[in-house]
Amino acid sequence: MDTLLRVKNLCAAYAQGGQRVRAVDGVSLELRRGEVLGIAGESGCGKSTLAQVLALLARPPLWVEQGELWLDGAVYPLGQGIHLPRELRGRKVALLPQGALNALNPTARVREIALEVIRAHEPKTTPQEAYARARERLEQLGLPSRVLEAYPHQLSGGMRQRVVTVISTLLNPKVLVADEPTSALDVSSQKAVVRMLRKLLEQGVIEGVIFIAHDLPLLRSVADRIAIMYAGKVVELGPSEELVEAPRHPYTQALVGAVLVPEPYIRQKRVEGIEGTPPDLRSPPPGCRFAPRCKYAQPRCSELEPPRFGGEERFAACWLLEEVLA
Ligand code: SF4
Ligand code: MG
Repeated sequence: MDTLLRVKNLCAAYAQGGQRVRAVDGVSLELRRGEVLGIAGESGCGKSTLAQVLALLARPPLWVEQGELWLDGAVYPLGQGIHLPRELRGRKVALLPQGALNALNPTARVREIALEVIRAHEPKTTPQEAYARARERLEQLGLPSRVLEAYPHQLSGGMRQRVVTVISTLLNPKVLVADEPTSALDVSSQKAVVRMLRKLLEQGVIEGVIFIAHDLPLLRSVADRIAIMYAGKVVELGPSEELVEAPRHPYTQALVGAVLVPEPYIRQKRVEGIEGTPPDLRSPPPGCRFAPRCKYAQPRCSELEPPRFGGEERFAACWLLEEVLA
């Protein structure tokens, strides 16, 4: 599979009132053509910030400080004051946002929203052309075209998220960055959205998906590969099944444990939290950022940042792996 999108050493920070909080710190990732790349981590680990940056939607107070973007065959340097070509946004990369209700203008019908999205990039499009395109996309995905006449509040939460998915792909972006698109949905609506994304990939409407979620079991069923983020950094990456079955980084192990603890008395699985909280990114701890919460921490963990051990296909940034994988 060839590379569709790649970022190298990406750093992005929120800067406000003289304070700088680096929420994405030295992230390097690759999305291959035809794949779903999952990104997981606790809330506050930088997932949504990374989504904003990858969807080329970072705006103050969020600044992209440095990095390099490789997108569909072209290389773009990233940094404060560097402006990417406008036509990349929406056309090459689009965001499928979190919380469908906020994503849709409540006073417009779905067809008007579709028209607005298309016209922002293709101003000469007539309403008829836009509606036809939206109708075609809905039909392609097995959705009733009458939703075009509806206002967002008239649709169920699951249908609304499907409509947002349709709208975010109207410009046929190569890459869709989905930021927790299913986290507010019931299981059957979650599955419907996931099926839609797979269909869009199979039909070649989109060529790759970055799927951000905190739900590892869901990601395992959706994504081909998963990257785990902690405190602004990617700490582990691997093929989904391998990563969830045999996590190598203590943080990933804790995350997997956090969702897999069976509850003996209630017929549900208990979601057990991980001890402690992620570090304050205004002053992150030196060395491994997980050290204050890690039960395997050794003295050097809080002094030296662990590099990635392993290969491109499967790596983890933890000193424990030095001897095993170096
Ligand atoms: Fe734990 Fe050390 Fe590995 Fe960090 S580097 S995860 S502190 S063992
Ligand atoms: Mg988020």
